[in-house]
Amino acid sequence: MKIPELFKSGKTVFSFEIFPPKKDGSIDTVYKTLDGLSDLKPDFISVTYGAGGSLPGASTREIACIIREKYHTTSIAHLTCVNSTKADIDRIIEEFKQSGIENVLALRGDITPGVEPKHDFPHASDLIAYMKQHSDLSFSGACYPESHTESRTIDEDIDNLKIKVDAGAEHLISQLFFDNSAFYSFLEKARAKGITVPIEAGIMPCVNAKQIQRMITLCGASLPLKFTKLIAKYGDNPEAMRDAGIAYAADQIIDLAANGVDGIHLYTMNNPYIARKISESVSNVIKS
Ligand code: FAD
Repeated sequence: MKIPELFKSGKTVFSFEIFPPKKDGSIDTVYKTLDGLSDLKPDFISVTYGAGGSLPGASTREIACIIREKYHTTSIAHLTCVNSTKADIDRIIEEFKQSGIENVLALRGDITPGVEPKHDFPHASDLIAYMKQHSDLSFSGACYPESHTESRTIDEDIDNLKIKVDAGAEHLISQLFFDNSAFYSFLEKARAKGITVPIEAGIMPCVNAKQIQRMITLCGASLPLKFTKLIAKYGDNPEAMRDAGIAYAADQIIDLAANGVDGIHLYTMNNPYIARKISESVSNVIKS
């Protein structure tokens, strides 16, 4: 199924993100993750795309196929273009066609310091425009409630987001955030600028103080006082931090659903236990 179809019923879409096992990992870990996540009946599962490569038989594309064929769940394959030429993308389009991939989260990817990016696709919007001409895939894109770190202002970032939507992104998934008011403010601005496609809120459960410091440095999400107090009090107690992080994420989701967001995209970090705890505590809210 193509992702935009899922939003037609008007119910809050609930989706998960997973990542492929690393090169030195085991394929079994993918099955363990998917066994744990699939009976939570997400509307779709997205699979990230890493520059470092993956285990043979467990690429982003292959896992997206496993999700569809073995778990009967809609999937979306992430794809970055910063280090790709047109010839690379032509090959990937062909592989996607042969594998029956229907949905792609088209991304630029991060620019690696010291690595000269390829110049065929400077932005995700260029990738979407090109792939749209050469396939009938459905495209989603990333958006940033607190602005992408390379943009000077949120308004500039949303103007660029409009270019991505006009190029063919039919659905957007947001960067993680911990302050719902930042998401609502972004949503209002995006709608005012004529972005009408469904926008899912990206929620990352903070269950480990070190992990969260790393994420914040990478994406620049602001931390509400309520959240910093949790880390200060429970950061050194793994069980308490896990429980508090799960409760905080569930609380965010309930508030977002009550405010009528199009969907929630849960960054599962391949941890079915945490996804289950959160899903169970919001399931009636999401369904209603
Ligand atoms: P773009 O949309 O190209 O935006 C990058 C910057 O350029 C922004 O400042 C934007 O305002 C500006 N810009 C955009 N379009 C234009 C334009 N046409 N003209 C001028 N300026 C423009 N990374 C991975 O490596 N693998 C993944 O699987 C992955 N999954 C992700 C999933 C989500 C939901 C999100 C939010 C991010 C993900 N990322 C992933 C990270 C992402 O690759 C980085 O945030 C990257 O720096 C930007 O990618 P983008 O597609 O948003 O880029």
